[in-house]
Amino acid sequence: MIESMNRVEIDLAALRSNCRALQEELREDVTRLLAVVKSDAYGHGMLPVARCLQDEGVHSFGVAEVHEGVLLRQAGISGDIIVFLGADEDCLAQVVRHNLQPVFFDSRQLAEISAFATAADARIGVHLKVDTGMGRLGILPDEVAGYLRQVEKASGVYLAGIMSHFPMADEPPVQPSVKQDALFKDIAAQSFHAGENRPLAHIANSAAMLRFPDMQMDMVRPGISLYGCNPLDSTLFCRAELAPVMSFKTKVIQVKDVPAGFPVSYGHTFTTSRPSRLAVLPVGYHNGYLRVMSNRSQVLIRGQRAPQRGRVCMNATVVDVTDIAGVEPGDEAVLMGRQGRDEISAGEVAGWMDTIHYEVLCLFGNSNRRVYIS
Ligand SMILES: *Cc1c(COP(=O)(O)O)cnc(C)c1O
Repeated sequence: MIESMNRVEIDLAALRSNCRALQEELREDVTRLLAVVKSDAYGHGMLPVARCLQDEGVHSFGVAEVHEGVLLRQAGISGDIIVFLGADEDCLAQVVRHNLQPVFFDSRQLAEISAFATAADARIGVHLKVDTGMGRLGILPDEVAGYLRQVEKASGVYLAGIMSHFPMADEPPVQPSVKQDALFKDIAAQSFHAGENRPLAHIANSAAMLRFPDMQMDMVRPGISLYGCNPLDSTLFCRAELAPVMSFKTKVIQVKDVPAGFPVSYGHTFTTSRPSRLAVLPVGYHNGYLRVMSNRSQVLIRGQRAPQRGRVCMNATVVDVTDIAGVEPGDEAVLMGRQGRDEISAGEVAGWMDTIHYEVLCLFGNSNRRVYIS
């Protein structure tokens, strides 16, 4: 089969190494790791990522929606699968058939799960989502007691966990996270007592688990750090050594010498100020290389940085290679990742895109063919 000249490379060895680095950060025999693989594993491909992590001893996986959990089961993932956005009524048969653990935040929703599971003679684990300060999904803290009574009385379900989420664990101010942690620990302490089969209390994402180890509780839910990105603000120290898993590569399809005063691409937003050598790349916003990066980004060719010039088009982008010796059609161009001794990180691309590295990974990974290397 003939494939696109653009490819996203997924380095499974880096994924394994990040998983081990995170496991080293866990409080031994206390905290377990749930790998967040929603959104096609942040663009890395949910199934190969989950299989690789299962081989590394990960037993819990987090997805956004039920259909993702079904795909994991069909691919042979056997551990706990937690569905962050809960189970819509239409999905209950799948939840029961594949033994998924939906998050719940609404009492009618819990009643529906209970009725369905009871009729199917099943017992489904559910996780209660509490909004301790995220200001998004979840019940408010003063509703917890009522919900716990409802779960206890309901047949066909058991409380597998109680969870919350941090909105600011990656940012310099510590106080919002400290406050939420205290509130959540209080809720957990009042909700159940220590013991063998008690529900899991979990609140920490990548940033919180690395920055505040005493907020790890029974389980942590890293996503971005598994994929090798530093989850913390650049002013904060990251304890774990993480290696980027994704890179994005293309190749030069034309090289040409042009005079000074030569306008480049749609709208002529760039004009050469000196005799220049330009290289054309077969990549554009169709591939997630967004137009907002026009005249802002850089790519690596022959180990050096080539600045992008003129508008990024749907399938083409021009870079200036005047200062790089010997560039030829067929040369590899790295849009994100390492080449030679230099590296363009997801964070750097995010700066050119006015966004965060999470979005860059989803965009590049989910818009291009992926190649797995290990
Ligand atoms: C996406 C998500 C995470 C993972 O967050 P990272 O910042 O990528 O570590 C954890 N918990 C929930 C509920 C999520 O939706």
